[in-house]
Order: sequence, then C-alpha cells, then structure tokens
Amino acid sequence: RFVTFEGGEGAGKSTQIKLLVDRLEKEGVRVVLTREPGGSPGAEIMRHLVLSGMGKLLGPEAETLLFAAARDDHVRNVILPALNQGSWVLCDRFFDSTRAYQGSQGKVAPDVLNAMQRVTIGDLKPDLTVILDVPADVGMQRAAARRGDGAPDRFEGEDLKFHQGLREAFRKIAADDPKRCVLIDATASADSVSHIVWDAVRERLFT
Ligand code: C5P
Repeated sequence: RFVTFEGGEGAGKSTQIKLLVDRLEKEGVRVVLTREPGGSPGAEIMRHLVLSGMGKLLGPEAETLLFAAARDDHVRNVILPALNQGSWVLCDRFFDSTRAYQGSQGKVAPDVLNAMQRVTIGDLKPDLTVILDVPADVGMQRAAARRGDGAPDRFEGEDLKFHQGLREAFRKIAADDPKRCVLIDATASADSVSHIVWDAVRERLFT
C-alpha cells in the first residue's frame, strides 16, 4: 500500500504521518516512512538546494524539473523497492504538492506537469492520499511557530493570498479525485485528527 499526505504549510502532515506509522506498526504492518522533496540520498541534496534559498533563484519550470529529478530518484531507489518487498510506504508530500505549488501557484502548464509525472512515476499512484486542510491563516501561524524551532520553510514571506490559493488547489485535487483522496479538517487537536485519519485508512485500505 502506498499512502501520501498532502497539505499547505502548518497543516500538520509530519505529525499525522508519524502517528499513522505508530498505529500501523501496532497492527503489525511493515512501514517505510519517507518524504518529498527528498527521501533518498540524491533527492535530499536537491531538497537542500530548494530549501537553502536557491529555489528562489529558479523560475517555476526550472524548479519543477528539480523536483522531478528528486522524485525520479526517490521513486526508483526508495518507494518502488519498498513496495515490491511488501512494505507499506507513507510519503510526506508527493505529486499533488507539485500540482499545487508549481502548478497552481507557480503557473506551470498542466501538460508540462503531466509529462514530468509520466517520466518520474509512470503508473505508480497512491492507494490513498490524505489531504490535511486548515484555513490559510491558521497554517501560517502554525508554520511561524515551528520556524521558531529552526525548521525550514520554503514559503516564508509569502502572503495570505498565496496560502489561500494553495489551500484551494489542494481542495480541488481532493474534489477531483475522491476515490484516491480524503480531505480532512485538520484544525482540531493532533489527537482527534489522528483518529479521523485512522478511520479513513481502516475504511479504505483494510477491507
Ligand atoms: O513538507 P515540508 O514543509 O517539509 O516541505 C518543505 C518545503 O518545500 C515547504 O516549504 C514546501 O512548501 C516546499 N515545497 C515546494 N514544492 C513542492 C513541495 C514542497 O515548494 N512541490
């Protein structure tokens, strides 16, 4: 099984994905937890480039190619081998982030994104995509609090409108592909959100 987590800044993806790993391991499931951008040694170098501020020197197309190169490496070296060995793979961000950040916000054309997707992931599709949804101002506040801990954020300095656009893009992705995606209100406490996530996973992937 391949499960991806998506959402804007401060939606709580990394917290929720870790809680789901714990829960699945209790059920005896073998889980590989990974993330994008990054997730393999080669792709982590590209993550560093993007988060170090170099990403801001690139246009959206160049940035998309960099993310695509990172994804290609990650899929071939981490995700596919783990799935082939029978593990579940949980990935913090995947191609929906490219569609939301570089597509909707960066205005990269859909045919460019489709071509990149064909090259990097082929037929690989998540069995379930959990999209965590919070109002843009809430996410921005959470992300600002987290930055106090030194966590990098590529979109520090973007305005509320940017984050609102991002949220809308993720909501549209969920609405357009309801078989694959579940949209979860992530404004509540981490604990109660984790129960909703678990219900969705159990309902969709354990039957
Ligand atoms: O999920 P995480 O916060 O670790 O993502 C790292 C940064 O990379 C975030 O600021 C995110 O907005 C950015 N990003 C991006 N384009 C993507 C995926 C992530 O700009 N396709």
